[in-house]
Amino acid sequence: MPATLKTDVLVIGGGATGAAVAWDCALRGYETVLAERRDLAEGTSGRFHGLLHSGGRYAVKDPNAAVECIEENVILRRIAADCIEDTGGLFVTTPDDDAAYGDSFLEGCAKTGVPTEEIDTAEALRREPRLNPAIKRAFTVPDASIDAWKTVWALAHAARGRGATVLPYHGVVDVLREGDAVVGARLHDEHSGEQVTVEARMVLNASGAWAGQVADMAGIEGVEIIPGKGIMIAMNHRLVNTVINRCTMPADGDILVPIRTVSVIGTTDIRVKDPDEPEITQDEVEQMLDDGERLVPGFRQARAMRVWAGVRPLFQDAKATGSSRDVTRAHTLLDHHERDGVTGFLTITGGKLTTMRLMARDIVDAMCAQLGDDRPCTTDKVVLPGSEDLEPYHISERLKAKEDHLLDDQLVCECEMIPRARLEATMRERDTTNLDDIRRSLRLGMGPCQGGFCIYRATGILHGVEQLDAPQANGSLRNFLEERWKGVWPILYGDQLRQARLDDWIFQGLLDVEHLPQ
Ligand SMILES: Cc1cc2nc3c(=O)[nH]c(=O)nc-3n(C[C@H](O)[C@H](O)[C@H](O)COP(=O)(O)OP(=O)(O)OC[C@H]3O[C@@H](n4cnc5c(N)ncnc54)[C@H](O)[C@@H]3O)c2cc1C
Repeated sequence: MPATLKTDVLVIGGGATGAAVAWDCALRGYETVLAERRDLAEGTSGRFHGLLHSGGRYAVKDPNAAVECIEENVILRRIAADCIEDTGGLFVTTPDDDAAYGDSFLEGCAKTGVPTEEIDTAEALRREPRLNPAIKRAFTVPDASIDAWKTVWALAHAARGRGATVLPYHGVVDVLREGDAVVGARLHDEHSGEQVTVEARMVLNASGAWAGQVADMAGIEGVEIIPGKGIMIAMNHRLVNTVINRCTMPADGDILVPIRTVSVIGTTDIRVKDPDEPEITQDEVEQMLDDGERLVPGFRQARAMRVWAGVRPLFQDAKATGSSRDVTRAHTLLDHHERDGVTGFLTITGGKLTTMRLMARDIVDAMCAQLGDDRPCTTDKVVLPGSEDLEPYHISERLKAKEDHLLDDQLVCECEMIPRARLEATMRERDTTNLDDIRRSLRLGMGPCQGGFCIYRATGILHGVEQLDAPQANGSLRNFLEERWKGVWPILYGDQLRQARLDDWIFQGLLDVEHLPQ
């Protein structure tokens, strides 16, 4: 890689928003570089709840957000079908909720265009037998689950296909200014340790909860992003096959999302100081498990497999006065020319994963306006790579592919149905020595054993594919185990504790990973 890159646009942040921005820029014919300090979607986008919102959640409280969600929901199903599982959604009134809210909900959905229908509770229980039998009302909505890693990589591949340069593991360490103009940034290559200078006509800040830090680097003050932490817990089965929401004003622990082989309960909302180290407390874990019980009695008897936290970027404009100082959950576009007198630099933050394409459209429109270009957005029409057949993902897809060739290919990860050939192909494609990168691409080690039975096999395969020496392979294995452990230790009880003990025996007892040469 040359030490200096020249481009039209540098996008900072490789989450859903940054990837969508890079795709939009590339599609409008701009030379584009996307820089992410870690792996793509390793920030909030890879730590979210997995819900493609129908808008139902916001239909009463925030009608504008509801309209945005349903419009984007329809578009994403068209352009990114392979990233979405069409689970459908239910809003249910539990015995702890006010049944009258259902009327406001119906009215809000009608006003905002969110398709909904009240169904008999007996019908809801027929569809979802594990649901609380005491529910008082039930409504259908077009919620779905969306795979963030697949989506972000599809956007990145699409951008690359149009000539963009996508640079994971390249953190921006300095934003370059000439007077009142931002003219590029300096990146640190996390692998080689080298510095890369990117000279750009425009720098687009899509770094989510870190957007204030990046704005600071550009010498722009008052972009206050308050990290709002939320935790989620993955249970080891699909306790439900439909997204289940409590039919009440948005609150903690009110959504259960079936994602691939698991179901995920969430979430909380607690303001924290540091977006990089959101701590998970035992109280929050207990609260989530109690909330799960309200939706699905016996929830606690299922196996809590992993807990993690993400941080919402809650924007507060320190330069604004009066009521506009309110913290907002909607997405915010900051035109630093209008706001701070600095050209060449725009920030987009907040919002939802469901609305990332819209956020990208808004910031790229603002960029075109600043550059005096007339290049309309077409991301709502162009289908992303992998979704060409317009068919949504289906849970049985991998099993079917395996059954068609039952004896041909050894399964490496049984929980997530990953055959060896697919694993090797992904290792070659990602060209990485980091097993956690492979996890994000394939969900390797994300099932009930949390890597216990597959990750030493995968390490051996990585060793061969990437021609690693033993210390490198050992390092990769240990790094993966350390990352998994962070999400396991706060929920150690019952069957998952037994699993963790077994994993511990395999890795500490048999393999003695602590003392492998590194
Ligand atoms: C708990 C929780 C649950 C949620 N659930 C849902 C849901 O179910 N559905 C939904 O639609 N939305 C949900 N959201 C919201 C959604 O996850 C976020 O709005 C979305 O993921 C934000 O994407 P982003 O790209 O803006 O930010 P991020 O994904 O955080 O991306 C920003 C990136 O910038 C990178 N970065 C930071 N500093 C630098 C630097 N100096 N140089 C280079 N890169 C840098 C970071 O590493 C990061 O990868 C949830 C949010 C939370 C917190």
